[in-house]
Order: sequence, then structure tokens, then C-alpha cells
Amino acid sequence: MSVPTAVVDPSVCAPLAVLGADVTVPLVTGGEVGYAALDYAASAPALQRVWDDVAAYAPYYGSVHRGAGYLSQLSTDLFESSRVTVAEFLGCRAEDQVVFTRSTTDSLNLLAAALPADCEVFVFETEHHASLLPWRGARVTCLDAPRTPDQAVATLERALSGRAPHGPALVCVTGASNVTGELWPVRELAAAAHAHGARIVLDAAQLAPHHPVDIAELDVDWVAFSGHKLYAPFGSGVLAGRADWLVDAEPYLAGGGASRKVTRRTDGSVDVEWHTTAARHEAGSPNVIGVYSIAAACKALTEAGFDRLVAREQQLVTRVREGLAGVPEVKVLSLFGDDAPRVGVISFVVEGWNSSHFAAALSAEYGIGVRDGLFCAHPLVRTLLGSEPQEPGECGAPEAAPGERSLNAIRVSFGAGT
Ligand code: PLP
Repeated sequence: MSVPTAVVDPSVCAPLAVLGADVTVPLVTGGEVGYAALDYAASAPALQRVWDDVAAYAPYYGSVHRGAGYLSQLSTDLFESSRVTVAEFLGCRAEDQVVFTRSTTDSLNLLAAALPADCEVFVFETEHHASLLPWRGARVTCLDAPRTPDQAVATLERALSGRAPHGPALVCVTGASNVTGELWPVRELAAAAHAHGARIVLDAAQLAPHHPVDIAELDVDWVAFSGHKLYAPFGSGVLAGRADWLVDAEPYLAGGGASRKVTRRTDGSVDVEWHTTAARHEAGSPNVIGVYSIAAACKALTEAGFDRLVAREQQLVTRVREGLAGVPEVKVLSLFGDDAPRVGVISFVVEGWNSSHFAAALSAEYGIGVRDGLFCAHPLVRTLLGSEPQEPGECGAPEAAPGERSLNAIRVSFGAGT
């Protein structure tokens, strides 16, 4: 893509100057500048505290659940105590399981693989593709984008009351939008789901880094989130919640670690007894560092105190939104309106600009790193833009000539966890 240079008006990017960074980056106009990483919604920079915890563990590194040696025992203890830390972080009920996965996408695909027969699934069209797409074997009802939180609850109520009463059903909903940052009425949606005999899984990929997520208090059946959005490095995620569907399902991956007893029958076939604990869905050698770093991030956020983090982040949200509101060319995208509570995720378009070029120019000219495109939420962005975007690559940005009308958007996202 060719990047137009020295054309972004400084007044447009001034509101974005909310977070500095330790690294400097070269500018296309010459010189260097401190990089402003404003793409936390994609992946938040891992906390120094998390790197330090992982480094402190390095000398004790050993195989997990697979060794009699001291280091293996220590690693196994650290691995299992990470599960307890995550359970505490999420306010899990005693009977809940915490399964370690690769990511939110992996967690939701695991749950999709564990759906009971004839399960109906209800999702809003506003979901991230990770929540929208995994339910391939089920009957999926994709609900219209609501324009208020109350409308979301009413839409779900209506859809659920139209279904056959006794079959299993699952609602999948995000806690905070990865496009608008707006908070969804999770507790009310959970109550609506349960009132109609359905279960609910919370996609907390964008909520957990910004707000406490308490599974019992929200009364959701499962929560999924990713470590790399929660200030841990890439590669690990969590699915936490009710054990029954998970225990009744075939293991997500078949192999060592998931199996309790394996025998060869006299007829030559193989018989397997699978674990009924979280290990059932964790076959193979686990991502110990990933799991350990998720737990380290949970501890770091808890110790920093969400009250303080939320207060600081909301100051930044106000600053960016007020700044952008003062730039006539900028239109901020919103489903629930200006007053909706939101996290530090803000998407917008700039009149006269193709969003991809604008985002590239922000990086090249000002050292501000943002995301452009459709954010793996194509139906939502289409609804918000009120138009059909150009065909993008998956999650990517369509190409267009400079100055062409924006058919995709720019997203800035940040948190107070650094
Ligand atoms: N759900 C939401 C709301 C997201 O924003 C994302 C990632 O951007 C995901 C799910 C998928 O997360 P991951 O890519 O870590 O699987």
C-alpha cells in the first residue's frame, strides 16, 4: 500500500496522544518519535510484572503432569495454582472448571464442540467473528443489532420465547464491543437467557482487561478470554464455567493428558476412559509459560485494583472522545449512543480519508499505532457505517485510492493496565 506522507492534520491526531511508550520509531518525515501503541484491543503490551514473573520461573522450568522430578512437581504445582488464580480472578463457583486454551477463539470453539445434540445458539450480528462463527453444527439464530442495551434484552427475550421450550440453547454475547467499546448488559441478558431455559457464554476478550468479570455475580454459565489482551504474552486463553456440557462431550483434542486409562481390547480396538476434570480438554503438553503468564496478569490487575484502573482509563476515554468530537471531519462509531458506558476502544472514520491510508499515515508521520479495517466484526461495521464495505481480506483492510470515501474504519484502543 502506498502511504501518503505529511498529510494528516495534527489537529486530528492530537486527541490520540494519550499513551507514550518506551520504544521510539522512525518517521517517514525524518527523525524518531516515542511510539504510541493504541491497539490494545488487538493485543495489549505484556506487563513488565508479567515478564518478571515468567523470568523468575525460568530456573524451575520442568514438564507439567509428566515427571517425578522436583522441577516437574514444582511446575505442576505452579500450573495448577495458576488455575486457582484464574478461578479467583473470575469469581468462579465451586463446581466450575477452568480449562486452559490457546485464545478466546479456541475457548469458544471448544464450547461449540461440546454443545449437546440439537442445541440452538443465539448470537447478535454485532459479535466478533470468534463469537459469531464457531457454532457450525448447531441451529444458529443471528439477531439484529440492537440500538440500546434494553433493546438487546428485548430482542433476545423475543427470540428465546419463540423457540421450542425444552431443548438445549446457548446465548453467546460479548461483554464489551471490540469496535465501539460499548458495554453490553450482560447480567440482564443472562437473566433473560436463564428465564427461557437457555445458557449463556460471555465473550470477555475485551471486557476482562478493563473491568472485573465475576462469573457468579453476572450469573453467566461460561466466560472466555485471551491472555494477550489481558497484558500477558500471546498463546494462552481460558474457558471457565459449568462442567456438565464439557464433561459430557468428547475431548476437544484426543491424546495424552486427557486420558485416564487406555487399554487395547482383545478385538484389537482401543478403549479410552477420559478425564472428567479440565484435563479432558487439555490433551498434549500444555503451554505452561502461557498459563503461568495469564495467572501473573490476573494477579497484577487484581493488585493494581480495578477501581483505580477503571478511573484512569475513563479519563483517557473522555479525553480522546472529547478531542475527536472537536474535529469536524471525524465521525465516531456507536451503536448505543454517546452516553453509553464504554471501555477504551473507539472506532471512527475521517471524512475524505480512506481509513487504511489514514491509519498508515498516523503510524508513518506520528508514530501512532492504530488498527484499521473491519475488526473481525464485518456485520457490525457494515451496520455502523450504513454501507457495504469493500471486500476485505479476513479481518483486514480493503485497498482504495487516497481520498476515496472510507468504507472501513480506524480503531484506537488502550487500557490503564500499563
Ligand atoms: N472476542 C472479541 C470481542 C475480540 O475482540 C477478539 C479479538 O479481537 C476475540 C474474541 C478473539 O480473540 P483471540 O484472537 O485472542 O482468539
